[in-house]
Amino acid sequence: MGDEKKRRASHVSTGFRADSFTFSTGRLQNQFCSKPRFRLARGASKRFVTQFSCEVAVLGGGLAGTGAALSLARSGVDVALFEAGTLPRHRVCGEFLSPESRQTLARLGVLPRIEAAGARAVNSARFCCDGKSARFDLGAAAGLSISRFALDPLLVGAAQNAGARVFLASKTRTLERVGDGFEFESGAQKWRAKAVIVAAGRAKSPKSARKTEDEARFCGLKAHFSGVDLEAGEVEMHLFRGGYCGLVRVEGEATNACLMTDYARLNGQAPDAFWAQLCRENPALGARFRRATRICEWQSTGNVSFGRFRPIGESGDENGAPNAVARGALCAGDAAGYIHPLTGDGMAMALRAGELAGAVARQIRGGLEIEEAARLYRAAWRREFAARLQLAARLHPFALRPRLARPILPFLRHFPALSNALVRGTRGAL
Ligand SMILES: Cc1cc2nc3c(=O)[nH]c(=O)nc-3n(C[C@H](O)[C@H](O)[C@H](O)COP(=O)(O)OP(=O)(O)OC[C@H]3O[C@@H](n4cnc5c(N)ncnc54)[C@H](O)[C@@H]3O)c2cc1C
Repeated sequence: MGDEKKRRASHVSTGFRADSFTFSTGRLQNQFCSKPRFRLARGASKRFVTQFSCEVAVLGGGLAGTGAALSLARSGVDVALFEAGTLPRHRVCGEFLSPESRQTLARLGVLPRIEAAGARAVNSARFCCDGKSARFDLGAAAGLSISRFALDPLLVGAAQNAGARVFLASKTRTLERVGDGFEFESGAQKWRAKAVIVAAGRAKSPKSARKTEDEARFCGLKAHFSGVDLEAGEVEMHLFRGGYCGLVRVEGEATNACLMTDYARLNGQAPDAFWAQLCRENPALGARFRRATRICEWQSTGNVSFGRFRPIGESGDENGAPNAVARGALCAGDAAGYIHPLTGDGMAMALRAGELAGAVARQIRGGLEIEEAARLYRAAWRREFAARLQLAARLHPFALRPRLARPILPFLRHFPALSNALVRGTRGAL
């Protein structure tokens, strides 16, 4: 490893929770940073005594952020990745990566490491509903299953090894377009970058937004279990009134159970009580868990909603808060648009969008104007993702209402061409 790579590789900072990030942790991080190149702007907070810079900043260290940081670092760009949380940690996610993600992971140079970490090949998906089921063949190129507990640190570590500067427990609070670049505050530091990729995941609950039928009504829950009676190599989806539950074997003996449900169905119950109720009401699901033991705490995420696409940052969020996302920042992954989790394509899309945003950010660094780069990115993003987002949104009602899904399942079983077209329509090219 060259000196520059070693210097960057030492930049990871761990052990502090984003919420409790204070000035002192910021100072601790400062000693690892490159020499400050900017002075504080007049009138800015006195908390910031130095300003740091990078060519491209990536805000958020999930799939989209690490995809972007990895592709940029591998092509020699000075990229800094800021992640609010610490690693490793469990995330609410079905932990199934659809087949096209293999190509992106291979291009990013991490597929062998993911396979070595215990990822399993997944060749089929089975949908179960009120005693009926239909199996979808995922084709020659299998998907993958691996826990986010293993995957996220592996990707962040790979980005760091490739030369990205990585800051964990470093939550970005503001982002502004200033001149021909961007300024933002992360942790207790002020930074400047020529290009910014926003990969901070789903926006939080829109406080004042109108609540449509599909908006902000759902919550996600997930836990790992051992002793589940489920074959490796298949992802199984159990549809119930108001939501669905996805099961897949991940590394070792663990099976991930991840469910999305509307709040009315959850009815304020604790996760264990709700889970027991679901297993009682859905015998096929209950049979899988007869001898199972939960091996991690339930994780939850609130206010899952669909249908808002924003590949490019805007000056002001949907509540009108200023500087939430500066115009011209490239949004990738869930930050740009959220595909229905039933398709199991969110992570593949996030990785690919990160890669796309990285390619455009490289051109900004090479002198392309931010507006032109934003236009290019928006067009590429729509070409790749718009059609599948729209199709997935149309499937949403079926995911919530077994009485709609039940008659369709036998039909799909008898017409595999139709089921394959549905699978292909909600996926990227292989
Ligand atoms: C119930 C459920 C089940 C799902 N199942 C699947 C599945 O089986 N397969 C699949 O492919 N997809 C699934 N998804 C979707 C998938 O999890 C997402 O699409 C994917 O994680 C998106 O990646 P991302 O990088 O955009 O966001 P994330 O993975 O959410 O990463 C965003 C990161 O940004 C960080 N961050 C947030 N704010 C800031 C800030 N201000 N500063 C710095 N960092 C910040 C967060 O800590 C986080 O690490 C599921 C989603 C849900 C809710």
